[in-house]
Amino acid sequence: MEHGTHSAMGPAQGTGFFAAYNRVPLFVRILAALVLGMIVGLKMGAGAGVFKPISDIVLQILRLLATPLIFVAVLNAIYKANATGKAAGRLLALLMTNTVVAILVGLLVANVIQPGRLVHLSPVGASSPRKSVNFFQDLLEKVPANLVDPLQRNEIISIIILAVAFGIAMRIVREQQAKLGKTGCETIGDALDTVFQLVMVMLHWVFALIPLAVFAVVARQVGKDGVKPLAQMLWFVITVVVALGLQAGYYLLRVRFGSWVRPGQFLRGASEALITAFSTASSAATLPITYTCVKDKIGVREESASLGVMVGGTFNHDGTALYEAMAALFVGQMLGYHLGPVQQVSVVIMSVFASVGAAGIPEAGTVTMIAVFTAVKLPTEYIPLLLPLDWFLDRCRTAINVMGDMSVTCILDGKTAPGGRAQQEQPAFVEDVIPVAT
Ligand code: ASP
Repeated sequence: MEHGTHSAMGPAQGTGFFAAYNRVPLFVRILAALVLGMIVGLKMGAGAGVFKPISDIVLQILRLLATPLIFVAVLNAIYKANATGKAAGRLLALLMTNTVVAILVGLLVANVIQPGRLVHLSPVGASSPRKSVNFFQDLLEKVPANLVDPLQRNEIISIIILAVAFGIAMRIVREQQAKLGKTGCETIGDALDTVFQLVMVMLHWVFALIPLAVFAVVARQVGKDGVKPLAQMLWFVITVVVALGLQAGYYLLRVRFGSWVRPGQFLRGASEALITAFSTASSAATLPITYTCVKDKIGVREESASLGVMVGGTFNHDGTALYEAMAALFVGQMLGYHLGPVQQVSVVIMSVFASVGAAGIPEAGTVTMIAVFTAVKLPTEYIPLLLPLDWFLDRCRTAINVMGDMSVTCILDGKTAPGGRAQQEQPAFVEDVIPVAT
């Protein structure tokens, strides 16, 4: 959480050990933990198993925060979304197809390359045996029977059902109150913002602990299997990058055939937002630049930009969905669990929900991934092993999240450019029609 988020953490501004620790970017701390874990693992061998409680505790706290984060993020997004009627329906359809395609691309690539099979890892610790997944029965049980249960059991689907229901109800009440000149709902809206900020502050505390979990898991794993499996995990990076690249190609095709914007024009106009997304690893922080790029550089209508970027951007995290699905499959393959078609369908559904609930901040995908792993009964203790790779993969998937928002915006803008020019007549850039004076 090194990206402009220190203000929420407070201690970074002070002096002393913790302030200095917080000033070091998270990915540097994670990489340092990786190196230290490797050294300690090599020195201690199987004795490094003593570090297990450390990673268990960090994961426990992450799990604790995953559900409030998803609940508040979805509720907030639905309540604040500035879209109604037909436009909202069209946006939803576009977002859903993009996300499902992203996950299918991820699963396809993971099934073809099978990166997990290239990593030879023996399971660490006493991870509980995986219970069988009866997907359809599980799904039926997700309809919440009371308010507390889903939160207590970290049931992501039930929590999202509750958040969507509350969000829609709050919108209706807000409208009714507006007609009567009342503002009670606004107070709840403000409280929601505050709760969201609270969760963010607590999340930052836990992020400060993540290097400890990385250290503990890496030391144990290296103590057992040596460093070779860690190097083999680079296959996972390659596989994810290939899948994200395919998803980018899909966006360009969709923009080419679904809007007046040409792919070259799209890439040139979007480049600043994509670079910002990569360098901040935060699609939320990139939002203003994304908006400016689609509106001023690509040249879509203001309504399309507001709907696609400002509304779509809060729900749409295709890169995150793709990553979470691939990570689940990767860990399953690595441990020799066979995730059959039914389990993979449940990975698809869980990843859609988890990506919607992932706020556009660095590492949010890792937090919500805990819910995906829990739902398909995969051991979450392997998640810290993925974190040393995440400083790079988070940036890549954030760029895809932002590219997804921009592609949806272009399609919302339709096949006729502003000003009524037909698709074929649309110049790639102003210089293409106005010769530069020499
Ligand atoms: N960093 C991503 C984003 O800001 C979320 C994630 O961690 O996947 O969109």
